[in-house]
Formats: sequence, C-alpha cells, structure tokens
Amino acid sequence: MKSPQARIIPRNEHSISRKLISPSALKVMYRLEQAGFKAYLVGGSIRDILLGIQPKDFDIATNAHPEQVHKLFSNSRLIGRRFKLVHVLFGREVIEVATFRASSDKEESPSQRQTADGMLTRDNVYGTIEEDALRRDFTANALYYSATDFNIYDYTNAIEDIEEKQLRLIGDPEERYREDPVRMLRALRFAEKLGFSIESNAEHAISDFAQLMQSVASARLFDEVIKLFVSGCGLNIYFRLKQHTLFEAMFPAVANSLANHDSEGTYDRFIQAGLLNTDKRIKEDKPITPAFLYAVLLWPEVHRLWIQKQSEGLPEFPAMQQAAQAAIESQLSSIMIPKRFLLNMKEIWEMQIRLTKNHGNRGLQIVQLPRFRAGYDFLLLREKAGEIIPGLGDWWTKFQITNPPPEHKRRTERPKSRPSRRKRPPNSQRNSN
Ligand code: ATP
Ligand code: MG
Repeated sequence: MKSPQARIIPRNEHSISRKLISPSALKVMYRLEQAGFKAYLVGGSIRDILLGIQPKDFDIATNAHPEQVHKLFSNSRLIGRRFKLVHVLFGREVIEVATFRASSDKEESPSQRQTADGMLTRDNVYGTIEEDALRRDFTANALYYSATDFNIYDYTNAIEDIEEKQLRLIGDPEERYREDPVRMLRALRFAEKLGFSIESNAEHAISDFAQLMQSVASARLFDEVIKLFVSGCGLNIYFRLKQHTLFEAMFPAVANSLANHDSEGTYDRFIQAGLLNTDKRIKEDKPITPAFLYAVLLWPEVHRLWIQKQSEGLPEFPAMQQAAQAAIESQLSSIMIPKRFLLNMKEIWEMQIRLTKNHGNRGLQIVQLPRFRAGYDFLLLREKAGEIIPGLGDWWTKFQITNPPPEHKRRTERPKSRPSRRKRPPNSQRNSN
C-alpha cells in the first residue's frame, strides 16, 4: 500500500497540551527522544483529549525496538509473544510502548503469521510510522502527537472523522475483521462510549463475520467481554451485540435460552436489569466483580437447566450444581472464565436457594456467608425482571437493617479493565495493537 502523507496540525490548531498528558508518559517520550529515537503519544489518549474526555491510559509508539526500549527503562518489562510490547511502570500507572509495525500485507515471515482464514497469530514486523498508522483499527485511534514539536500527525483523515463523530475502520472491513475479530467488539464499544456512528460498510460487515469470534483465544475473549460491560454503557452494548449476532457467537447456549426458552422475555429483562445495574454502579464508582457479571450473563442457561433437572426428579440443590456445571462447561469452549471466578459464580447461584431458607435462625447464618451480598443483589434483579414474585428481596433488605452482613466479607475487587487501572494483564494474548 502506498504510504500516506501526514496532515500536520500545529500546536495552535489543536487542544492537546502537555498539562493534559500524564507526566510519566511525557518522561518516557523525552527519554526515548534523548536516546535518538522517535516517540509519539498515540491512540485513545489523543482521541479522548480531542473529545474533551479524560484518557484512561497513555500509549506510546516509537521506532525503538522493544529490547531497546526495555534497556532504556529499568522500571520496564517486555510483554507479549504474539505482539511484543514494553510496559514502563510508574507505581500503579503503566505506560505501554509499542514499536511501529508494518501492515499485514507483507510477506509472511517468522515475525508475522496468519492462519488460513486470515487471522494474525503473530505480528512483529516492524515498520515506519506511516505503516503503523495504517495497521491500527479505526482512524480515530490512529493520531500521533509529538511532545517535541507539539504537532499532531494525521495519516488517515482522523481529525475530520472525529469532528464528524464517525468511527471509520482503516482498510477493508472483511480483511481487518478476519485478521482480528476483536475489532468488531471494539467498534461497538467505541461507538457507544464516544457516541460515534460506525461507518456503514464496517457496521454491516459485523453481522456477516460475527462467527469469526469463535476463533478468538478464549482467554482474550474473557478480558474483552469485561471491557464491554464495564464501559459504563454495557446495556446499550448488549443491545448492539444482539443486533449484530455477536452475542450468540460468544454466548451460544445463553442465546439459545433467550431465543427458545424465554417466551415472556424474563431472561432478557434479567440480563438487562443486571447490566443497567452495572452501568449505574460504574457511574457511582462502586466495585464491579467479573464473577457477578458472568453470573448474570449465564443465568438464563443455568436457570433453564435447573428447572429442567428438577422436573426430572433431582432435588433443588444437586439440580443447581449440575445445571451450573453444565452451563459453565458449554460456555468455557468460547470464553475462558478463570477458576476463581467460576467458584464465586456458583456460590451466587447456590445462594438463590439459600436465600429462600430464611426461617428460624437461618437468616443470621446466611448473612455471614461470603457471597451473601452478591446473592442478595442477584435476587433483587430476578425480582425486578419478574422471574420470581417480589417479596423475598424485601424481607432480606429489612433483615439486614437489624443484622448487617460483616463488612470484610464484601468484595471490593475490580476487574483489570476498569478505567482506574491498566486493562491489560501482563503476558495477555493481545491480538494486535
Ligand atoms: P481505550 O484505552 O480508551 O479503550 P484505546 O484506543 O487506547 O482505547 P487500547 O486498547 O488502549 O485502545 O489500544 C491502543 C491503540 O492500539 C488503539 O488506539 C489502536 O490504535 C491500537 N489497537 C488496539 N487494539 C487494536 C486492534 N485489535 N487492532 C488494531 N489496532 C489496535
Ligand atoms: Mg488506551
């Protein structure tokens, strides 16, 4: 592909000022420049500042190779195999430094590998800044800012797209989605988060290629799904995922329960209530746990199997255990949910039975249990969705006023992808940058 010419936007024509950039990111850029390399702020941070949004992290692109970057910073580590990166650590802040990469139409080499259906499984062919711009996902994510000359470099007409609130995929949608199907999820997330419209070819292609999601590494998909639902607009993203058949591609068994065993729309209302509740908690800066989120998402299948197994004669508790196991097993083939979360999910589901055993002194024991609070929140959602008749939730609400659950048992863990933290765990299998 022919190298594009940069449109250069000088300091007096844009709103990026060093005051809005993390001092750590500036430090990294200056150190790289002093060592004779080029360094630019790139991607989401520029896009967000131009839109008046506070960036959640700062990514840097450079012509220095990962090993060279690593040598310059004692507080750094090399990560990734498929896609080598350097993380420079400043306390809890992580500045991600990526080397300019060439587009995937170069000949296959040991540094770059593609599967028969076009998916990139290794992507370490270094290139120029122009090539690096073209291999990013959306134009809005392909702007570069230099802290040395204060210019913005635009190789893809990004400034105009940002002004018009257009999410435009760089290159041919089919090819770009085949290389990395996660770009379909990113399209929906950015469109919703930024209030952009997705350019029509890129949007239509999503439904055509939704099934490609099945080829994404299941551990990566776990992280990507969390990012979707902790974005603060999870409910609307859920609607879009269903509209584009991405939901069924990632959650086939749950989608089947929704389509064929939910004539009253109760399961769907339940998921909606759960996601709305998550959106609200994010706005209030309350903790979100991946286990609760996945417990909500899988409930239509767990509940359906639970009812079915009881009708076959199993008592409610073993029926729940078997239903949970079966639902989890079928889900794990597409999304790898870590074991520690699976355990908590099962506890939340089993708590749905425990919460009905509130007679005598049992209530006092139940509020002491580790997943009481999550189970209670879950119960309220089921009532809200009309899956069970209201009443029990209210009973527990009142009971807790005189018998509060122990504070230390409440979970405060946040998923890695919350804005206040760095979203990518070390050595995560990032498909592309
Ligand atoms: P945010 O951090 O707000 O979610 P972001 O745009 O910064 O958004 P990151 O995941 O931090 O997203 O990635 C940084 C940049 O790397 C992106 O702006 C984009 O240029 C590029 N990028 C990330 N993932 C991909 C991908 N799957 N395909 C192509 N480019 C990507
Ligand atoms: Mg980012």
